[in-house]
Amino acid sequence: MIKRNLYCSVCGREVEGDEEIYAKMKAPEKTAMVEIKAYLKKNSEIICKDCYKNNLKIKGS
Ligand SMILES: [Zn+2]
Repeated sequence: MIKRNLYCSVCGREVEGDEEIYAKMKAPEKTAMVEIKAYLKKNSEIICKDCYKNNLKIKGS
């Protein structure tokens, strides 16, 4: 089984297996649900929980 590591796009930290993550992505245009996985790989940014929280703080101030 090939394990694909995910890295936070903000801090570059490797995200752990059971860690909660957030994905930032553009809304797909006429994309069927079966293509979502491929779409996510190409168009999403993974953000770890810590950076997500920090982002919210920055935006809120
Ligand atoms: Zn991060």
